[in-house]
Amino acid sequence: MKFATKAIHVGQEPDSFTGSVAVPVYQTSTYQQLAIGKHKGFEYSRTGNPTRKALEEAVSSLEEAKYGLAFASGVAATTAVFSLLKTGDHVICGDDIYGGTYRLLEYMFRQWGLEVTYADSRETGSFGDAIKKNTKLIWIETPTNPLLKIIDIRALAHISKQNNILLAVDNTFASPCLQQPLTLGADIVVHSTTKYLAGHSDVIGGAIATSDAKAYYGLKFYQNAAGAVPGPWDCWLILRGIKTLVVRMRQHEKNALFIAEVLEKHPKVERVHYPGLRSHPQHELAKTQMHGFGGMISFEIKGGFAEVEEFVSRLRLFLLAESLGGVESLVCYPPKMTHSSFSGEERQKRGIKDNLIRLSVGIEDKEDLKEDLESALA
Ligand SMILES: *Cc1c(COP(=O)(O)O)cnc(C)c1O
Repeated sequence: MKFATKAIHVGQEPDSFTGSVAVPVYQTSTYQQLAIGKHKGFEYSRTGNPTRKALEEAVSSLEEAKYGLAFASGVAATTAVFSLLKTGDHVICGDDIYGGTYRLLEYMFRQWGLEVTYADSRETGSFGDAIKKNTKLIWIETPTNPLLKIIDIRALAHISKQNNILLAVDNTFASPCLQQPLTLGADIVVHSTTKYLAGHSDVIGGAIATSDAKAYYGLKFYQNAAGAVPGPWDCWLILRGIKTLVVRMRQHEKNALFIAEVLEKHPKVERVHYPGLRSHPQHELAKTQMHGFGGMISFEIKGGFAEVEEFVSRLRLFLLAESLGGVESLVCYPPKMTHSSFSGEERQKRGIKDNLIRLSVGIEDKEDLKEDLESALA
């Protein structure tokens, strides 16, 4: 079965009891058991719920994985992966990552004795150089947030396999429609399903996909033990979003490429970061591991914070908001929003400048988006 068909059918067979085409919302906490120790596969909804199971099957199939797990948020899914590790273990993390992942590592897991090294997201070699005896996990995002750098997943998978280290990829920015890290050799994929998978800015959720049985059983144990599970309504909303993922991603990408080109030519724009542009230093690498370049753009406006503030205040269609991946276009200022958990110095080190603006390009008419940006820049 091809991707677009799977997005609509896997895990979502008509209900065997009623024929309901949409997966029912099983709003129940518990399940009657036939006898002690005998049940129909569900005992208690923290442990398992049929609506959640449908979502878990859908996500695992889209990522070409054997197993899928759904969580209450992307951060909860991320926490689950780090929780596979023990005190004294070492993680190598890409330096350009979601602020909340950095916050978890620095302010939660370091306290519990996890060691963390940040490697240069553009240099595969810098991950290899950071490997120590106790390295257990490499964690990356690609394209990265907010600078849209591309990391060579195949090369990193090669290094991690040679050293018996798990490679986890946060695939939120690309979505499985545009990139399937497990097929490139990664071990674990993590999603904030809040973003492209759900796609309508109306739900918070997370998911993990893997074909590594040992990792899966550890994660599944954690999911039940720690309990950060999504409710059935949230699972249902994410499942509904997934059905239109392919058509949405196509439109996000078309609009984003158009907008990136408009910005690149604009005299008030210093630099545009978008992997679909020929000028992107890793455009060729992106083509080898992605089926498209996605809907996220960041750019540096001429000037500093004052210019950013003025620009943002003049936008009408692009809404000033955190998050991404919804049908509506959003604008965000990473230094004070998504990446505020980094100190000014840490941001400088990572190349997140004070004039950096991030766009999540929606699926509105592209001419309207262009006009909005141009008039705000003017
Ligand atoms: C939003 C986001 C997360 C966190 O997900 P939540 O659903 O907000 O908890 C993690 N990684 C990336 C790349 C994100 O954009």
